[in-house]
Amino acid sequence: MKTKILIVILVSFLVISVVAAGLMAAKPDKAGRPEKLKQIIFVHPVAPDKPGKPDKPPGKPPKEPEEPKDNTYYEFWGGYLADTLAYHINPNVGLVTAGDPVAAVNSAVEAWDVVTADDLFSYAGTTTESWYAEDGENTISWVKFIPRDYIAVAVMWYDPATMIIYEVDIVFNTFHNWGIDPGKKDRAFDIQNIATHEFGHPAGLDDLYDEIYSELTMYGYSKTGETKKCSLEEGDISGAQELYGAP
Ligand SMILES: [Zn+2]
Repeated sequence: MKTKILIVILVSFLVISVVAAGLMAAKPDKAGRPEKLKQIIFVHPVAPDKPGKPDKPPGKPPKEPEEPKDNTYYEFWGGYLADTLAYHINPNVGLVTAGDPVAAVNSAVEAWDVVTADDLFSYAGTTTESWYAEDGENTISWVKFIPRDYIAVAVMWYDPATMIIYEVDIVFNTFHNWGIDPGKKDRAFDIQNIATHEFGHPAGLDDLYDEIYSELTMYGYSKTGETKKCSLEEGDISGAQELYGAP
C-alpha cells in the first residue's frame, strides 16, 4: 500500500515537472533567438611532446624530414556570427605579472575586428559571472577546471538550422599561471595569445592540429610564454574575410 502511494506521488511529481519544463520552454526568449540551440565545445590543450590531433589512437611517428610550414590554411567548423557579439569579462584572474587582463582580451578581439568588414565583437564591461552556461550572456572568465591539460575552452550555442551562433563563453583554466607577456621564468600563458585563438572560434574558424600549421593563430596547441598567436596569419585572415568580408 505504502509503495503504491509513493509511486503515485512520484508519477505526479514527474507529470508536474514535465508540464513545468514545457511551460518554461514556451516562454518567449530574447528577440530572434531560437528556443533550442546546440552546444559545441572547443578545448585548447597544452602542446604535447608529439603534436597531432588529441585523443586519437597511437599511429605512425610523424614524417621525416619535417614538412614546411603552411601559414595560408584555415578550416570552418560551420557556425558564424550574424550580429555583433557583446561580451563581458570577469577580470578576477590572479595574474603572475603586472598588467590589465581586460585590455589583453580586448586587444585579442580587436585582431579579428580590424581584418573584417563586419563588427564581430564589442566589449560590454566587466562581470562577476564565471564558468559557462546558456544564460544569454557572453562571459569571459578564469576558473580552475579539469582536465588541467586544457588551457582554455570556448563554448558556443548555435542554431543547427541556420548555423548562427547566439552565445559564447570562454573559460581560461587557472590550473595554469596567467600573465601579460610573461617571461620564461613565470611559466605562464599570455592572455592575449590564448584569447586571440579562442575568439577565432566564434569568428567561425576551427582548430588545426597538424604541426605544419603551428604558426597560425588557429593552431590548436599552445605553450607558456608564447605570444605568436596574438598576430593573425594569412590563413586566419583569409578565413575570417571569407565569412565577413574585408574592411
Ligand atoms: Zn581552439
